[in-house]
Amino acid sequence: MITNKEDCLLKVKKILEDVGINPSFQRIKILEFMINSKEHPNVEMIYNALYVDLPTLSKTTVYNTVKLLVEKGILISFSLGDGELRYDYYKEAHSHLYCIGCKKIIDCECCDLKKVIQENLDNLNFKFITAQFIISGYCKDCKNNKRGKKC
Ligand SMILES: [Zn+2]
Ligand SMILES: [Zn+2]
Repeated sequence: MITNKEDCLLKVKKILEDVGINPSFQRIKILEFMINSKEHPNVEMIYNALYVDLPTLSKTTVYNTVKLLVEKGILISFSLGDGELRYDYYKEAHSHLYCIGCKKIIDCECCDLKKVIQENLDNLNFKFITAQFIISGYCKDCKNNKRGKKC
């Protein structure tokens, strides 16, 4: 188990080094958390999850690290309109379903936007890296609850 964990840290370290980021322990832990997270967290959520293990961590460090990771194309950031940025480890192109009811964000891998967009951008000779869009609505649970209320 320990070897696995060390393996994982080494992989995360390499991701950082490959894009020229100095792999400090805090940066490694932040990226490792993002790789394992399905929550699409904001800075506050990342900080809350990590500060117990990293008592010297500050929200500013989290903010600066995720900003750097977005600039390097490792994370994407998007806004849900509440003024707060959410972050996502963006390994495969995907879009997001956002539930207005419970604020859950669900990955939607079925929308292969990359293919559609690239075909159109070829004419403009523009190299496409990422695109994502957010579909708002009600998830299965919230949809059923709403119906149940008969309001
Ligand atoms: Zn919901
Ligand atoms: Zn996602």
